[in-house]
Amino acid sequence: MILLRCIFLLALSFALEAKEVFVLLGPPGSGKGTQALVLIEETDLPHISTGNLFREFLASTQQDNPLAKQLKGFMEKGELVPDRYIIEILKERISEPDAKNGYILDGFPRTLSQAKALQEILTPDDRLIVINLSVPDHLLLERLTGRLHCPQCQQTYHKTFSPPKKESFCDLCETSLAKRSDDEKETIQKRLEVYHKDTSPLIQFYKDKGVLYTIDAAKSKQEIQQQILSIYREQLKPASTP
Ligand code: AMP
Repeated sequence: MILLRCIFLLALSFALEAKEVFVLLGPPGSGKGTQALVLIEETDLPHISTGNLFREFLASTQQDNPLAKQLKGFMEKGELVPDRYIIEILKERISEPDAKNGYILDGFPRTLSQAKALQEILTPDDRLIVINLSVPDHLLLERLTGRLHCPQCQQTYHKTFSPPKKESFCDLCETSLAKRSDDEKETIQKRLEVYHKDTSPLIQFYKDKGVLYTIDAAKSKQEIQQQILSIYREQLKPASTP
């Protein structure tokens, strides 16, 4: 009897520790940040964007800090920040209490080596769902050039497709919106090039693992949200309900 109870408690503790991990995969401008909102609302999990973590770090650090200078250099050129910075920052962020039940990753992983590092972080009980937002390049350019972001809470908007309620101000914290310095045409081209070379191989990587759900993200924001919700409700929830 005591043994049974111990086994039950052990199983329960593992079940409680299992995390639900979402990866929003897609080229820059595919709407990862925007679509994360629907998952946050549905799951109550934290949204972890590595790009936002870097921007927050840069905003809170002296401009002449050597690490800040290096990071800024990579970001402004549209290049990837080397893995040695990313993986440690990510591990630190997901060890915070709000991520104990899982998290929604946006902008990570971006390379096969980052994807492999994530596999090592996950336990066999964790559930990984990768949502691949597929958008053709010509639409991405249009989306990125009209993009606005909130320098305070990092929320993303678009002048035409996803405008804030009050022009030029963030819906969430009312800060004045700005254009990201890497949303200039030349840097966008470089970021798309980097996406095709380094990040798009992750589509096959996750397809092979049977955790990839591809969405036509050229559709309207509402249609995409509906599809993400269906994936979550139909594919995920049944496994967690008795
Ligand atoms: P994002 O906000 O996701 O578009 O990221 C902005 C920039 O931050 C990227 O262009 C990269 O320079 C850097 N960055 C963000 N996430 C990563 C990552 N996982 N690996 C490498 N660089 C990253």
